Amino acid sequence: MKFSWRILLLWTLPALVIGFFFWQGTFASTTGNMGSNTASTRMTYGRFLDYIDSGRVTSVDLYDSGRTAIVEAVDVDLDNRLQRLRVDLPISAPELISKLRDSNIALTSHPARNDGAIWGLLGNLIFPILLIAGLFFLFRRSSNMNGGPGQAMNFGKSRARFMMEAKTGVLFDDVAGIEEAKEELEEVVTFLKQPERFTAVGARIPKGVLLVGPPGTGKTLLAKAIAGEAGVPFFSISGSEFVEMFVGVGASRVRDLFKKAKENAPCLIFIDEIDAVGRQRGAGIGGGNDEREQTLNQLLTEMDGFEGNTGIIVIAATNRADVLDTALLRPGRFDRQVMVDPPDLKGRIKVLEVHARDKKLASEISIEVIARRTPGFTGADLSNLLNEAAILTARRRKEAITMLEINDAVDRVVAGMEGTPLVDSKNKRLIAYHEVGHAIIGTLVKDHDPVQKVTLIPRGQAQGLTWFTPSEEQGLITRAQLLARITGALGGRAAEEEVFGDAEVTTGAGGDLQQLTGIARQMVTRYGMSDLGSLSLESQEGEVFLGAGLMSRAEYSEEVAARIDQQVRQIIEHCHQEAREIIRDNRDAVDRLVDLLIEKETIEGEEFRQIVAEYTDVPEKPQYVPQL
Ligand code: ADP
Ligand code: ZN
Repeated sequence: MKFSWRILLLWTLPALVIGFFFWQGTFASTTGNMGSNTASTRMTYGRFLDYIDSGRVTSVDLYDSGRTAIVEAVDVDLDNRLQRLRVDLPISAPELISKLRDSNIALTSHPARNDGAIWGLLGNLIFPILLIAGLFFLFRRSSNMNGGPGQAMNFGKSRARFMMEAKTGVLFDDVAGIEEAKEELEEVVTFLKQPERFTAVGARIPKGVLLVGPPGTGKTLLAKAIAGEAGVPFFSISGSEFVEMFVGVGASRVRDLFKKAKENAPCLIFIDEIDAVGRQRGAGIGGGNDEREQTLNQLLTEMDGFEGNTGIIVIAATNRADVLDTALLRPGRFDRQVMVDPPDLKGRIKVLEVHARDKKLASEISIEVIARRTPGFTGADLSNLLNEAAILTARRRKEAITMLEINDAVDRVVAGMEGTPLVDSKNKRLIAYHEVGHAIIGTLVKDHDPVQKVTLIPRGQAQGLTWFTPSEEQGLITRAQLLARITGALGGRAAEEEVFGDAEVTTGAGGDLQQLTGIARQMVTRYGMSDLGSLSLESQEGEVFLGAGLMSRAEYSEEVAARIDQQVRQIIEHCHQEAREIIRDNRDAVDRLVDLLIEKETIEGEEFRQIVAEYTDVPEKPQYVPQL
């Protein structure tokens, strides 16, 4: 909105300038040609005098303060018809008037066109006025913009960047699948509703709670539910809002926020992405960031500045607590931490139930089946999934969401939009071999997740996809499983090599290689699953802040680094050989499956296994069934 104004002005100003000159041009010509409609032919002054003398002039009209005359004269060449001619008169021709009077010629003097003069004056003024007004307007607009040139003039007044909701309307019932977090936070509702109960026995009510968990797990929702259950206003701001160009803006926003909150106590303040301001001070490349430090200090001051029983509770969300400044986590600040993890199977069922409330599901649909298909999905993913399915249903003009829409929606949420199938070509054959390569290894290697389906329908970045039924949840993973994953990921490239030869392998395996290299590296450096022995060579967490890796160089020597590389290579090489062997030994099955895949575009896991079983023994894979 703000921008369009500026652009509008930027375009209208030049247009006005051009328009103005055009207008001036036409205006000038109208004054100049006044009377031109009556006399287009000109006559010299001398000729005019001759005409008078010869008695051919019948009347004279004077215009332009006597500088122009329209003369009516008899044209002797044309049957004495009357002719109108225009004459430019010399400035001082006083004798003309007496001459005309002497000759008894009708003389009319027309006053100068005053309106023209006024228009001319206005025309000259209007443009500068418009220009000045435009510039003024432009300047005012831009000064209202974020970080615009005018920002410096009024940042102190800090337009509130936080949101306030008097009633969130969210209840604990709307939050599902994160029961532990909910239980811990139910207490906070009581703090807000009946602080006396705690203060009476001398308990200090906590001021701050830190919700830690990946994005989309429902942290915001949870905070809203606390405010909703307690019936108190909900103030929210995102940590990134604090980070501004000008030093002091963030701090003044914090001050404003707490001031408003105190006026509305009891209430709840929610700070999303607190890591944007709350990172460890004085860390990272180039030392600290003044603005962030000031903001953080202000936040700490504000949190210390009110008593626990004034009825303000601050809830902050982050996906990593380890990067936060320790000062934030001290008693009296965010001394409570609640983990909000992606839901497990049971949790996913509950979340799906919550979001299915307002959707029309066909009776055949089992929420449990959907939940089983979606390990690792967060609450937001699940909500998104049901919404996608509903959109697909509407587009297909169906009455209710069926399992077909759900499956399509899962695929879309996981792998992106479906593309148009490839036409038959060598390229398609190659992709088919690549995917069948993944799938046959997934089927024949005992510790690999079973194949769910293979498809040649492109989705997102991928031109073909092999889906595996993921094993349930964050259980422990064995070395054999990791090796199986690496072998499976190499299946695509191995098939290309076996079938088309080393020269024909494609870039299609790039993603696979990246993934499997990551796994192999972690096996060596983190899980102690190589000849280097059972030691951890890299800490669990990634980099805490930008540049940490630069400063605290690895905890091992160059020599060990070389050995790590060698071990990683060895693992991958071993799996690569195994993958190529499996493809070579089952070439007949692979060829048949490729033909079928090109024809059908998608093969379901069950059918795939049956075909492979006609050629060789397929290992039984225990279907992991979690307890409900
Ligand atoms: P976060 O703050 O953790 O990034 P949000 O609270 O913003 O996640 O979640 C986004 C949306 O996802 C919510 O509005 C809600 O619709 C859905 N959602 C996330 N987690 C849950 C949950 N546990 N129960 C129900 N809905 C959820
Ligand atoms: Zn692949």
